[in-house]
Amino acid sequence: MYNRRKFIKLSAAGASLAALSQSAVAESLSNISTTNLPIVISTWDFGIAANQEAWKTLEKGGRALDAVEAGVKIPEADMNNHTVGRAGYPDRDGHVTLDACIMDEFGNCGSVAAMEDIAHPISVARLVMEKTPHVMLVGNGATQFAVEQGFKREKLLTPESEKAWKEWLKTAKYSPAINIENEQHVPGGKYNHDTIGMLAIDAKGNISGACTTSGMAFKLHGRVGDSPIIGAGLYVDNEVGGATSTGVGEEVIRNVGSFLVVELMRQGMSPENACKEAVKRIIKKKPDTAKNIQVGFLAINKKGEYGAYAIQSGFSFAVCNADKQDMLIKGKSIY
Ligand code: ASP
Repeated sequence: MYNRRKFIKLSAAGASLAALSQSAVAESLSNISTTNLPIVISTWDFGIAANQEAWKTLEKGGRALDAVEAGVKIPEADMNNHTVGRAGYPDRDGHVTLDACIMDEFGNCGSVAAMEDIAHPISVARLVMEKTPHVMLVGNGATQFAVEQGFKREKLLTPESEKAWKEWLKTAKYSPAINIENEQHVPGGKYNHDTIGMLAIDAKGNISGACTTSGMAFKLHGRVGDSPIIGAGLYVDNEVGGATSTGVGEEVIRNVGSFLVVELMRQGMSPENACKEAVKRIIKKKPDTAKNIQVGFLAINKKGEYGAYAIQSGFSFAVCNADKQDMLIKGKSIY
């Protein structure tokens, strides 16, 4: 069921080969820590390229907020990425609906959810944070705001995504597929859902985070997962650290996952142990559900120590600092 998560195998084809062959892929090293600031970490193997973009800002002494926005725009723009941004798979009715949120060192945050026709939800989320008195805009209101702010309205459903959706429609007896992330659910066995969550600490020691996704492929129209929900998909507290999540968003929302991880770090847990505890909380609440789903957390503390934990094996995260810009690490898991 989790074959697609075997990212080394998956990535052995196509363009990602080059990136991965240069990467240090470390087994079970998610407890590595570093005090080497600045630093940026992100979920999944596509986090490598995203981190490298973020690094351009961080290495110049730029602000973590600018770094995370620039970084996650890379997978948002990637036409081969069907789980984030413009080439994301649509919902059950053929609409590409995007979710994103962003949070800075002052506790400011902004978010968009179920937004259509705009390619870079993270930048809209940032403007919600900076230019409105609100935290979250959804659906048509989010699109309207984005257009007012100068974003181009465009059709996001790519021919490839449309083909995959039509293929899925042939067999899909739709039920909300919160516990399915298997190959047969998506033609070609590619990503059903995977989010980029990114956390950065800049040279001044300030922390920001960003999280962006197209959510679950072929979800019910209007479904919103954890990724744009502050506290669920992302949380940053500049005194403590930051956390982000990926996987089945419904379970993360139920447990306010990222906030939980940050609060556990506040109580003294290491990033990895805090992530593990949050994963265990999800399993404890719904043990039967948890056996068949993936949820992963990634966290960093104020010192720049980082860690991750997932329910299932196969979760990877990318780390970038002055020592190394293309590190990919396998997160530990319960199962
Ligand atoms: N967390 C995302 C969602 O539930 C999907 C994922 O990260 O795999 O929408």
